[in-house]
Amino acid sequence: MRQRAVAVIECPQEIPCNPCETACPRGAIRVGEPITNCPELDATLCSGCGLCLTACPGLAIFLVARNPGGEAEVTFPYEFLPLPELGAEVEAVNRKGQRVGTGRVVAVRQPKGADGTWLITLAVPDDLAADVRGMRRINRE
Ligand code: SF4
Ligand code: SF4
Repeated sequence: MRQRAVAVIECPQEIPCNPCETACPRGAIRVGEPITNCPELDATLCSGCGLCLTACPGLAIFLVARNPGGEAEVTFPYEFLPLPELGAEVEAVNRKGQRVGTGRVVAVRQPKGADGTWLITLAVPDDLAADVRGMRRINRE
């Protein structure tokens, strides 16, 4: 059974930045003082709303819903047009933009207040959930 979607923050550099903290309506992300602290997530408070994904200027936050033995869902910020269509089969890529498998687009949404950043959710084999962090269209020509 698929677990609930929870934020995954991949922001290891000590930079002066905290929109993730201020965007979270549940207080699940803490940067605190000094503002160069790396953000910390209290996953028990995360609702998976996705607001922090579109607030992060570094596109460094994702949502992952694991499903051991089945299909996980990975959500990432996306700023390219045209947007992928629901149900489309796409290349699932890792942090370096390298293809690691195939995914299926299961959600395309824009949280309230997001400005130009969309959230794409891919269904991927669960064993790819820790690697997939983006997508690329499959060129069939
Ligand atoms: S997904 Fe929503 S609840 Fe979870 S950390 Fe981000 S803003 Fe907070
Ligand atoms: S908003 Fe993004 S880049 Fe800034 S501290 Fe939070 S996770 Fe890091």
